[in-house]
Amino acid sequence: MTLTKKRETRPATASWGLSAGGIPWEYAPAPEATDHVNIEREYGLFIGNTFAPSRPRKTFSVINPATEEPLAKVAHASKADVHRAVTTAREAHRSSWSKLSGRERAKYLYRIARILQERSREFAVVETMNSGKPIKESRDVDVPLAAAHFFYYAGWADKLEYAFPNREPRSLGVAAQIIPWNFPLLMLAWKIAPALAAGNTVILKPASTTPLTAYLFADVVRQADLPPGVVNIITGPGEIGMELVRHPDVRKVAFTGSTAVGKMIARAVAGTDKKLTLELGGKAANIVFDDAPLDQAIEGIVNGIYFNQGEVCCAGSRLFVQESVHEPLIAKLKARLGTLRVGDPLDKNTDVGAINSAGQLAKVQELVQSGIDEGAEIFQPACDLPERGFFFRPTLFTGVSQSHRIAQEEIFGPVLSVLTFRTPEEAIEKANNTPYGLSAGVWTEKGSRIFKMVAAMKAGVVWANTFNRFDPTSPFGGYKESGHGREGGIHGLAAYLDVSGDGANTR
Ligand code: NDP
Repeated sequence: MTLTKKRETRPATASWGLSAGGIPWEYAPAPEATDHVNIEREYGLFIGNTFAPSRPRKTFSVINPATEEPLAKVAHASKADVHRAVTTAREAHRSSWSKLSGRERAKYLYRIARILQERSREFAVVETMNSGKPIKESRDVDVPLAAAHFFYYAGWADKLEYAFPNREPRSLGVAAQIIPWNFPLLMLAWKIAPALAAGNTVILKPASTTPLTAYLFADVVRQADLPPGVVNIITGPGEIGMELVRHPDVRKVAFTGSTAVGKMIARAVAGTDKKLTLELGGKAANIVFDDAPLDQAIEGIVNGIYFNQGEVCCAGSRLFVQESVHEPLIAKLKARLGTLRVGDPLDKNTDVGAINSAGQLAKVQELVQSGIDEGAEIFQPACDLPERGFFFRPTLFTGVSQSHRIAQEEIFGPVLSVLTFRTPEEAIEKANNTPYGLSAGVWTEKGSRIFKMVAAMKAGVVWANTFNRFDPTSPFGGYKESGHGREGGIHGLAAYLDVSGDGANTR
């Protein structure tokens, strides 16, 4: 089926965002090597520890969003393939995985974590080539955090009785897991690690634009010698995800993605006894008080919205600035934007890489145009973008009002909307005035104000004097249209267990 080939395609180096007043020199290119990475020409579905073409054989292409060059073909699963995957996972749960002690399961999880660490360079490069995110982020954030999730949940696998005393924790069975394209490997780890630690078997459907690290992970599954059928990976369009969700032998559904699809999934499982967790969109408020250390806040704001090109569900996309510091803060922010380097994601100096797809770029462009049309003032640093690939300049809007679309809708791109406030009460009211409730940030030196704001913000995660910090021990999830249920920490483990004590959820 497969021939290996090496890729050397790269976008032309961008001129880094060196606006007037910015750094008066250019960075030399510092491209990460790709010669240690083998991307197969074609990937079959990974079911029962073997790769096989879909039935009937059908494929679709996966491209590098920074170059628009094809990377590989992947299998387009059929309804019959979904059934085969669920049957295989169910049998693996019955005959092997649920029979292992927690201690034995933990050994496999530790093994996966260690292999991810050993192969971290390979994973980082493939993740960057397939998703468009800067190599320094996939190398320093995505891959280490993915390994950390496996380490963390390995630690829980033999302690379920301690975690849920007197509640007879039991695995559920087959978990269907659907993940998006913004953190392909990390979302895989958020889903698979707790599911396996709890004794379930899984079928993962990655996003159609970013399946390559999931298929690389399939190789890790074999390397770790996991019993066949414990981890299965299938690719195909959204309808295939829905087939998986609806399959009667699936006991748990975990979804991360858009609110629109999340609602469809919630309707599909309504009336069944399937457990469901939904991690959906967000429009987070990042609130800066006048006593905040401004330089530190600037770094937090930049990390909050330009990290991963702003393609982050918990991105701090609405900045609320106390009026008295609005002017100096915006001046500092504009200067900082001028130093962001936009371009080749494989370059180790790049801060802002490629948007994941042409469709997502069009969505960002459309919403930015709406901001201009509705009267907000746009600022973009002067920087050349590569001629090919889906790039967008870091963008800042001032003069934004609550009713503007750019203040209400999730853009999922490097676009920040700045609003102002005078009192903490006004900040709370404006920040909570959104259908979402995933995350928020507060910048102030006053500890008492942090406690007041954290209690008042209707958001699942509130960061104080930092932003976009993730840790496997810490639960993550939302309110309202941002979804329900928690991933991470002991909460994330509970989502994969029957802890009712009466076994009502297991079959
Ligand atoms: P989707 O919600 O469509 O995609 C997320 C995952 O769901 C993908 O694996 C996708 O598969 C799958 N999917 C799509 N349709 C269905 C369906 N009917 N049933 C089951 N699974 C389905 O997000 P988009 O990629 O379309 O992005 C649109 C917007 O969603 C973004 O602009 C952003 O605002 C938001 N978003 C939020 C994310 C978050 O982390 N909360 C992540 C991604 C997007 P496939 O890729 O094959 O379509």
